[in-house]
Amino acid sequence: MSYSFTTKIRNHIGSNMKVSKYYGPTPTNMATCPKLIYHQVDNYSQLQAPGWQLGLKFREGNEQEDLTVRLIEESHPGLKIVERNTKNLTATIGRHQVKGRPDGLIYDPNLSKGTMPMFEAKSMDEHNFIKFMAFGIEESHPYYYDQLQSTLLLVRVNFPKVHIPYAVIFAKLRGSEIDVWDEAVEFNPDHIDILEERLDKRDMILGQEYAPERPYERGNPFCQNCPAEQLSWGGLEFETKEELPTIDNLDELVKMAKNLVGYMEAQKLAEDRIDLLRAYFDNQLSKWQRREIPIALRDLAKTTLTPYLRTFDKSTFDQDMIRLEHPKLAQRASGKSPVTQLRFKVTQDGKVVRI
Ligand code: SF4
Repeated sequence: MSYSFTTKIRNHIGSNMKVSKYYGPTPTNMATCPKLIYHQVDNYSQLQAPGWQLGLKFREGNEQEDLTVRLIEESHPGLKIVERNTKNLTATIGRHQVKGRPDGLIYDPNLSKGTMPMFEAKSMDEHNFIKFMAFGIEESHPYYYDQLQSTLLLVRVNFPKVHIPYAVIFAKLRGSEIDVWDEAVEFNPDHIDILEERLDKRDMILGQEYAPERPYERGNPFCQNCPAEQLSWGGLEFETKEELPTIDNLDELVKMAKNLVGYMEAQKLAEDRIDLLRAYFDNQLSKWQRREIPIALRDLAKTTLTPYLRTFDKSTFDQDMIRLEHPKLAQRASGKSPVTQLRFKVTQDGKVVRI
């Protein structure tokens, strides 16, 4: 009999994944989609908890932090990452109270007395890590920049005797190609003004009767894994307000649907007939031993149809061979990006006749 941990581990992680309510601004939700924030307040019970995969990712990220701190302390004798488990700190941005805490402060005997930069640890996949190395955190990950600036504000307000001029964000690359990278980010009061404006706008939408517009296009990566994805894109949002969408011009919608179904049927019929006619002309070329036969269409002025044979080299690319012989290259060259397609399903008497 075989023994496996997989199912129980997945279930265990999945069952601990909860959707969070919105209790006010924190450094980590500074850049959260305003529509999600709205639903976290108004339609919390209808949000979907993220799956176990995301839970595992968070868990790995948290545990990487201990390793990162050990690596830094081991390689810099005398340096310590302190205030790692401080309680939630509070500060105000305009009229908003923000709560949160840093990953730590850096005590380094080599720095001038009383100076302790803030410390922030991240674990990143290859794509994000390379972006961070190439462009710096503000450009590569603006939401982390928001988080850093608001957390810097929190620590500067709550540790008034300490000089905290900047934060060091340290990233560890997840996966097989292990690597580390860091950047010092100065406190930027102008950015706090930007966050204040954003929080003011957030307050405004929270008072509204209806959820705000989606700020993203279909298929945006932020919408994948979003607990409000079904509400937001699944058309369920209206039901939460007990108001199904009212289609103003139902007649026109039915007329267009009939047109489309008609054209789809005609297209299918035409495709079947075209296939038969192709076979017919192929036979004729072979029967007459010709590469082409121009046929003038007598009742269609000046129109000629020429069935002809074209010979060319067809490119082939053996993906399986590349995968087997150059797995690293294949992995780097492949990727997934979300694609949204418009599809139509036709049913007759409840049975799907065309997808
Ligand atoms: S699905 Fe996208 S648009 Fe909708 S709330 Fe989530 S992140 Fe925002």
